Parts: sequence; C-alpha cells; structure tokens
Amino acid sequence: MLGLMQDHPLLISSLIDFAQRHHADGEIVSRRVEGDIHRYTWGDVAKRARQVANALDGLNLAFSDRVATLAWNGYRHLEIYFGASGSGRVLHTLNPRLHPDQVVWIANHAEDQVLCFDMSFLPIVQAVHSRCPTIKTYVALCDADKLPTDSGIPHLLSYEAWIGKQPSTYVWPTFDENSASSMCYTSGTTGNPKAALYSHRSTLLHAYAAALPDVMCISARDAILPVVPMFHVNAWGIPYSAALTGAKLVFPGGAMDGKSIYELIEAEGVTYSAGVPTVWQMMLTHMKTNNLKFGTMTRTVIGGSACPPAMIRAFNDDYGVEVLHAWGMTEMSPLGTLCTLKNKQLKLPPDAQMQIRLKQGRAIFGVDMKIVDEAGNELPWDGKTYGDLLVKGPWVLGAYFKGEGGDPLVNGWFPTGDVATIDADGFMQITDRSKDVIKSGGEWISSIDIENIAMAHPAVMMAACIGMPHPKWDERPIVAVVKRPDMAVSRDELLQFFEGKTAKWQIPDDVVFVDAIPLGATGKMQKMKLREELKNYQLPSL
Ligand code: AMP
Repeated sequence: MLGLMQDHPLLISSLIDFAQRHHADGEIVSRRVEGDIHRYTWGDVAKRARQVANALDGLNLAFSDRVATLAWNGYRHLEIYFGASGSGRVLHTLNPRLHPDQVVWIANHAEDQVLCFDMSFLPIVQAVHSRCPTIKTYVALCDADKLPTDSGIPHLLSYEAWIGKQPSTYVWPTFDENSASSMCYTSGTTGNPKAALYSHRSTLLHAYAAALPDVMCISARDAILPVVPMFHVNAWGIPYSAALTGAKLVFPGGAMDGKSIYELIEAEGVTYSAGVPTVWQMMLTHMKTNNLKFGTMTRTVIGGSACPPAMIRAFNDDYGVEVLHAWGMTEMSPLGTLCTLKNKQLKLPPDAQMQIRLKQGRAIFGVDMKIVDEAGNELPWDGKTYGDLLVKGPWVLGAYFKGEGGDPLVNGWFPTGDVATIDADGFMQITDRSKDVIKSGGEWISSIDIENIAMAHPAVMMAACIGMPHPKWDERPIVAVVKRPDMAVSRDELLQFFEGKTAKWQIPDDVVFVDAIPLGATGKMQKMKLREELKNYQLPSL
C-alpha cells in the first residue's frame, strides 16, 4: 500500500520560491568586485533568477546544458545558482584558482555552453576562450557601461544588459527530482579531474540536513558570511540552506583578506561563518594585531582540512566563537560529519571537551559511515582502531560524470580515501589521507602533476612531491629529486622550470636533492618512507 501524501519533486526552484514568498525582505549584502557594497533582498534574487532563466531560454539551451561560472561569492553568482538550476540547466562552478590549461580541460570535459565570469577573471577567460569550442556565450558579470570593448572575446555580453531585457516572470519547469542540478570537479589523485554531478533531490536533502541544529544550525535569525567560495562544493551548500531558512547572506566578493572580512562581519551583524582554516588564520592575526573583538558572531564552521587546536582555542577563549569542525568531500555535496557535542559531554572539563572538538565529528542523518581494514572487514568504533573510511547516503556520489574512473563504489559504499577512527559516541577523526595530494590553503595540489613537470626536466631522473606542514597554508609542496649523474641542475633552475607550467601557488616551495627515492615491492614510490626520511626538513620560508 502506498502512502497517500502529495507527490512533489524536490526541486531547487522551490527554494527560491519559498524565500521569495516568506522572506522577500530578507537581506543579501555583497561586496562587489567593483569595490562598493550592494544590498538587496531575497525577493530581488528571485526576480533576477527568473530573468536569468529567461535569458538562458533565449540562448536556446537544452535541458541539462551546462552553465559555467568563474565568480566570487556575490549576488549575481547567487542569481545564476537559482536561475540555471531552476530552469533545468546544470550549474558548473569553475575554480578560478586553477591553471588556465586545467580550466580548458575541465570546461571541455563538462561541455560548458555558457560562461559567466567576474571581471577580475577576465585574463583567465582571455587565456582560455579560443580553446573552449563548446562555449558559445560569454557573459561578464558587470553593467553594460563596464564591458570592455577590446577584450578579444567574441560576442561578449554584459550580464546586466543580458538579463535586464528579460521579464522577471517565469514559470519554473517541473521535472524528475533526480535530474542533474550542478557539478563540481575534484582534482584527480590519478589522472584527470573527475566531476561530482549533484541532483535537485540530493541538493535539497543536503540543504535540509545542513540547517539542522546539530549540523550548521541555520535559521531566519542568522546572518551568514560564507567565506568558503561558491566554486568550492557550492559554498558547502550554504546558499541553498539560506534560501530554505530565509537567513541573511553576506558575500565578501574578491576581498578575502582578514581585514575586509572582519569589517564586513561587524558592519552586517554576521552571526555565522564558514571557511577553511587558512582564511581564519589571516583574520585571527588581523584581530590580534589590532586588538579587535566580534560584536555578533557566535559560531563558525571550519573544514576542508584539519582545524588546528590553537585555532579552536583562540576562537573559543579569546573571541567567544564556537568552532564547528566539519568534514566532507566534493563527492559528498560536501557535508559528512560535524562536530557538535552531546549533552553528556558538556559536563566534561574544558580539556576533555577540546579533545572531542578536534575530531571531525558525528555523521549527519543521511550519511552512513564505517571504517574497514584492507580486506573490507568493518572495524570497531573504539576511537583507536583506524581504517579506510567509507560512506553512503542520498547526497553521496554514486558515479562520476561520464563514468570516469569506472564504478567508484565498493558494495554500495563510497571509499573516501581518508583513514579515520570512530569512537563509541560516533565521533570520527581523520588520522591520515590515503591519497598523496597536498592541501594548500584549502585547495588541492596534485603531487602527480608536480612530479610530471619535474620529470620533464632533462636533468631529473626521479621526482616525488610531498606536502610539508605550514602554519599558514596547512601544507606546502616540496619536491624530492634524484638527479641524472651526468647532468647538473640547481634548485633555482628547477623551480624556475615550473613557471608557466602550473598555477603559481602550486609551484613547490623547495627542491631537495636526494640519492634515491624509496620504492616499494611493485616499484611504486613510498611517500610515507620519504616523509620519514625528511622529518627534520624545514621549509625555507619558515
Ligand atoms: P574536497 O573534495 O576538495 O573538499 O576534499 C575532501 C578531502 O579533504 C577529504 O577527503 C579529506 O581528506 C579532507 N578534509 C576535508 N575536511 C577535513 C577536515 N575537517 N579534517 C581533515 N581533512 C579534511
């Protein structure tokens, strides 16, 4: 017997309809790339998202065609989020921090049709447009009078002129909630990047879950400043959860330095924020140097890489801000666990509480997790035994876009590539990464990419790239190199060799010449051993 309740698909358009109907005067504040502060409301977002939808229809885009963005966190980006997905297109948020060659590869793989970009990313678009044959329309996120006349980009449109002539009425189409809504590429540890393709259903379920009290605890009374970029797994789902609750949104645009973010938090009464540890490091330094305090901020989600204990302490003890340590992945939309204490743990002494807060936290309802040994046997939740972390749930990836990499699942579970412990209360802690990618400032650096470049130098026989701990960036790459005996190359020459071959911030901080790189039985480089050998190494910048 089936239930007799109404059957409505979970669609992203319903979020913006809801925000318009119930929170039409809810504020959205953005620091624009132009430098000024822009203010409007959820009601305005809804109107302009409809204009975006009409404008996309005007380009004759088909259902599921990809609409790409290269943009900071801002109100126009938000309108495209709802206008593209709501009208049945797939929002593809490109990461502007990638090297232009990577942007080209990803845009071609995604078969993007439209690219909307902030003017600060014009040089990237100029570098890539001739190599992206599927992109037929380029839209600069600016007023008509700010559109450059000599950009070299054919048929470049101004966003304001493009949507300005469109009606703000639009009937959102109804379709299968499992239809694709947005996509995000994750740097492949082996081979090319692969894309997670989110659905309307997965996005809405994630939006509900993220707003729960033991997760991000988002409500209509919050003013949220997502420092996490909208091109990093949809800003961890905050734009959707904000529409679902009617929370105020405050967008920092391209001004991501500690001072600008602090000023915006204070000026707009921000209660809540989210970002990777690196950004907070900059802000805490700014606040300490200038003897500043928060007026309204009470909590912040920190994730993407492990949050250092000193940061949790500083937020809590010096500024009265609760840190919610979170773990997730692009493949998980991204939220998997969040560290909020249980009632019984509130009675523990501060140090014992801190030990729990350092963990990545408890699974959110909707995410099931387990740790397994090499043979796939489930391991105990004792807080000590560690194993490969596997997850499953309705917002966890089932397959990569275009089936890249084959079937990623193991008996229906997604292997995260992380190694973790889980304690008896269900708190998970990442102990290691089974992958060797390097996390710098919350962004991936593929060690293989770096090694491939180094190996292209004639004097390099073998190269292994590993991450070294760095107080500001979390990790910075260095490359260990075995030279050809008959050739000479200096450290500086090798570092120079990287120029132009990868993004600047991905270039290793140092080259260490070694006699040999430890190899395993099958001839694979053993990076764990290499790290041991270099345990007394110090980055030149420290
Ligand atoms: P991404 O797909 O770029 O978001 O990266 C996901 C990976 O980042 C995870 O598989 C973890 O290795 C790492 N990660 C995310 N959050 C945390 C955290 N709180 N602590 C440690 N590692 C994390």
